[in-house]
Amino acid sequence: MTDFDGLAALVTGGASGIGAATAALLHERGARVAVVDRDPAGAPPGTLALTADVTSAAAVRAAVDEAAAELGALHTLVGNAGIGAIGTVEDNDDEEWRHVLDVNLLGLVRTARAALPHLRRAARDRPGAVSITHTCSIAATAGLPQRALYGASKGAVLSLTLAMAADHVREGIRVNCVNPGTADTPWIGRLLARADDPAAERAALDARQPMGRMVTAGEVAAAIVSLASPAAAGITGAALAVDGGMQGLRLRPA
Ligand code: NAD
Repeated sequence: MTDFDGLAALVTGGASGIGAATAALLHERGARVAVVDRDPAGAPPGTLALTADVTSAAAVRAAVDEAAAELGALHTLVGNAGIGAIGTVEDNDDEEWRHVLDVNLLGLVRTARAALPHLRRAARDRPGAVSITHTCSIAATAGLPQRALYGASKGAVLSLTLAMAADHVREGIRVNCVNPGTADTPWIGRLLARADDPAAERAALDARQPMGRMVTAGEVAAAIVSLASPAAAGITGAALAVDGGMQGLRLRPA
């Protein structure tokens, strides 16, 4: 027996990086898993891969309903699909703001709206085992340069998580988020690829981290899965940093 035996999970953005590591770990821990992604080719083996862009309410609803029908229920929702944005308020125009908020914030709202009827039903059978976990970011609470839009989108995700935790606590649905620092995923790989010397840039990025390295997608996934686990039945409205100490530590200069 593993802790997710008999449970069904859905991970948005589950075909790459943190989402793929989370879907793989949930599968390994015994869950039946669906991945919903705009490009699901990278969904881990053993998962049900569904195509939907989280900017489409109709597509998200169809994918969530299909996942619940195929898996037989829905106990665990991981709202993880997200995109980055770099710049000050002067660098990103209104259209870019609307698009990033549409994916990072409204994408989670649409997914939750579609999933809540299924989660409510599941909570009646398995109290404590039903949860929503959002992938937020330390950018939600840290003043990071060049992250006006991205930070605002993730600040809104943190507020959404807390408000949803309050709204659904008496229904037996827990709502938490994980705040990665810099996680070594294809997303970071794409950013590094733009540098003149990607290897040197990667080494510099690692060196800036308190641990001397970025956190891994698997380390973020482990935190998401632990918050979603029935063992975390007492945890809701929590934000768990997986940032290698970036926010909490005050290291002396070397
Ligand atoms: P990634 O680019 O490797 O994976 C993101 C996945 O989301 C991809 O499979 C992509 O196809 C999917 N996706 C993107 N937009 C979508 C849309 N509109 N509809 C459906 N699917 C969509 O990125 P990652 O680093 O694994 O990031 C995952 C989450 O972690 C994001 O929410 C991101 O903001 C957050 N995060 C990442 C880091 C980091 O350093 N990598 C740090 C903090 C937070």
